[in-house]
Amino acid sequence: MYFSKNLLILFAATFSLFIAFSSNDHNRVSAHPVTKNPNPNHHNHHHKHNIKPHTRLPINVKSTTSFKPKTTKSSKPKIVTRGATALGIAPLYNPNNKAANGHQVFFNNPATNIDYHQGEVMSGLTNIHFIYYGDWNNQDERNILQTFFENVDGTPWFQTLQKYSNLVNKNITGPIKLTHVLTNEYTHGSSLTKQNHIDIVNEALDQNILPEESNAIYFILSSKDVRSEGFCKDYCGYHSHFTRPSNTQLIYSYVGNAEEQCASGCATGNPNISPNSNVGVDGMINIMAHELIESMNDPFLSAWYDSNGQESADKCNFNFGKTAKAENNADYNMIVNDIKYNIQMNWNPITAECDIGS
Ligand SMILES: [Zn+2]
Repeated sequence: MYFSKNLLILFAATFSLFIAFSSNDHNRVSAHPVTKNPNPNHHNHHHKHNIKPHTRLPINVKSTTSFKPKTTKSSKPKIVTRGATALGIAPLYNPNNKAANGHQVFFNNPATNIDYHQGEVMSGLTNIHFIYYGDWNNQDERNILQTFFENVDGTPWFQTLQKYSNLVNKNITGPIKLTHVLTNEYTHGSSLTKQNHIDIVNEALDQNILPEESNAIYFILSSKDVRSEGFCKDYCGYHSHFTRPSNTQLIYSYVGNAEEQCASGCATGNPNISPNSNVGVDGMINIMAHELIESMNDPFLSAWYDSNGQESADKCNFNFGKTAKAENNADYNMIVNDIKYNIQMNWNPITAECDIGS
């Protein structure tokens, strides 16, 4: 039951907050500098923080056009799992692959459109649960990530995702609701396996800290000192699914802060400068947007991907389209509630090109 002791729960919408600090510093990897727990002497110490309630402030939204893909489908959706690992990864940036505008892309394959493989998509209300793993005491960092997800379904960017549908022509619609935000302070140390990612979700569910919902995406978000199996080597983030004892299939995504481990591979374009002068977190939100796309239009890795096995966000990976310069000279392409973001485009299955929305 060590888990309950170490878990910090932020039901950010309405509830008060319980914090238990942990000094669980074992398993740290010494090859790179790591951030020490800021309160190593605090054990089982409860603090109260004031958390702003979730408010959905207006953002600049232009047209909302509804599209129906030109597909004729008749039978019921069927779930088939693709690949041995069943991970939909966001690959690292490849400096050898540049788009015409000079921006960096990894997989941007305009030669082929994306194909539908009869699997299910996430349509209708989609809940988002954030599990901050590690040191997430910086509220500005949480704010960058949460503001995007609190407003994403009203952005032009989201319209491209709404062009994807399932076998019975049911499109992805949203709404997207960030309903739970909690913090886990190193219950599995600072070096995680992929199984640990699932364990972290399971533990929150088993203790009724998070609800078990098939229409949700569980994000495990690790701080920059936390290492993960394959992170910064095979991927910047990934999405996948697992089965609960109740047989419910849950969709989850892991994204790490790459600032100290591979900023050049996972940053949002430039590894030295980013819209909020936080290369790690600004990079994370781009990867999280990538994984949001693919969790929704390919949740079981059986729906939308191309002949090379690339999911829709892979086809526009690190491709940001038209960008502007922030005051610090960083590129950005989106403003949500006064926060600047540089978020990759998504593949538009109708026009067969990367699309930022309009
Ligand atoms: Zn991907």
